[in-house]
Amino acid sequence: MRRALFPGSFDPITLGHFDIIKRGVTLFDEVIVAIGVNSDKKYMFSIEERKAFIEQAFADEPKVKVVTYTGLTVDFCNDIGAEFILRGLRNPADFEFEKAIAHANRRMATIETVFLLTSAKTSFISSSIVRDVIKNHGDYTKFVPDSVRIN
Ligand code: ADP
Repeated sequence: MRRALFPGSFDPITLGHFDIIKRGVTLFDEVIVAIGVNSDKKYMFSIEERKAFIEQAFADEPKVKVVTYTGLTVDFCNDIGAEFILRGLRNPADFEFEKAIAHANRRMATIETVFLLTSAKTSFISSSIVRDVIKNHGDYTKFVPDSVRIN
């Protein structure tokens, strides 16, 4: 069983994340979307909301599971038997950041990080841009799956 962990904050999930997960499903038997819980970070959406947004977006995709975790990503991978970490790369800044994390993870565990280049159409989207658009009452629906709706 080829199981990949796709870790992140997903505050909220965007069409960029959605694209990476969809493409990950074609490469792996199971893609576990893992929402990291960091008590030092302030989030716009609660962990329950973030989880529900992702679950609803992939309600028709049995290969996608959504979980939350604390602690080191590699430890969580070992706990659940995931041999791969899936990450998206948008730009050179992502590359430099991800490279350091992937090297550190590799030093700590025998887990391969697999990078997918983002699709051109969604490469500019980030959760922080979406949060800014929401805060300023803009049309955020262009950047997120239909499951992300704010009352
Ligand atoms: P983090 O808190 O780890 O930055 P994010 O939820 O922002 O978590 O991102 C999780 C993963 O999704 C990262 O690998 C990131 O590069 C990727 N990602 C974020 N936005 C996009 C996008 N627009 N297209 C593709 N991948 C993306």
